Amino acid sequence: METPTYRIHQIQTGAVRVHPQQVEGSKINRSFWILTSQKWTEWLPINTYLIEHSNGLVLFDTGEHPSVNEPDFYPWWAPQYRKMCQFDIHESESVVEGIRRLGYSPHDVRYVILSHLHSDHVGGISRLSKSEFVISEREWADGHRLGATFMHGYQKHRFHIPDYKYRIIHHVRMNQAGEFEKGYDLFGDGSLVIVPTPGHTFGHQSLLVNGKLPVCLAGDAIYTQTQFEREIPDGVADDKKAAVTTMARLREWSERNDDAPILSTHDPEAGVLLSKRNGMI
Ligand SMILES: [Zn+2]
Repeated sequence: METPTYRIHQIQTGAVRVHPQQVEGSKINRSFWILTSQKWTEWLPINTYLIEHSNGLVLFDTGEHPSVNEPDFYPWWAPQYRKMCQFDIHESESVVEGIRRLGYSPHDVRYVILSHLHSDHVGGISRLSKSEFVISEREWADGHRLGATFMHGYQKHRFHIPDYKYRIIHHVRMNQAGEFEKGYDLFGDGSLVIVPTPGHTFGHQSLLVNGKLPVCLAGDAIYTQTQFEREIPDGVADDKKAAVTTMARLREWSERNDDAPILSTHDPEAGVLLSKRNGMI
């Protein structure tokens, strides 16, 4: 049987800039540079990815919400959010508008796989009421912990919406997960395998798209190709050691799959890497 191909589309939901210490890592305590750094990176994309799969549309992450610059978007008692990131996003750049531009209704999205629950990955959830959201059990638990908003960048009301359908998954040992050892096979056919990629957060997960030309959708497991090449954990990683192990596994997986691209959320090169891959199909 011929290996299937899946079309993957990048949908960019605006742009963000952060302090260089967040991308390049820092030996200094993170609270210190978050509050004092005056430097900003270039504008980085906030990517999501839509997969046209024979079993239905699958979205990976949902990007930022266009109302992020409204004064009451973040709680007043957590001023660090505004100190960490600046956003440039318009209504036309929301994930649902991106889905419409590709010729689909947001209601057509069957599954949304969430890499993790930080604000710029869950911003589109509120407008995707017909989808089922797939999240790791560790991330789900961490997002609900006391102090999660103040200390760890989680805003529960943005990702946990009453009456929505959530599939809280447990990664188990399976051959299809390759270097990652554990995984969750979404359709039971090995085509979309969700694997644990801890580091940025403890419950972070990525998606292996095992088509004719595999790609990995990696959320914030890496930020940019340069950071990935240098294998340095990002400056806000919850577990720096795990972040380095994750990057090594991503590299091994990529090499074993003919240099399959690792497409992250904020990598300015992700769009080019994806179009090259799509062009080869
Ligand atoms: Zn994040």
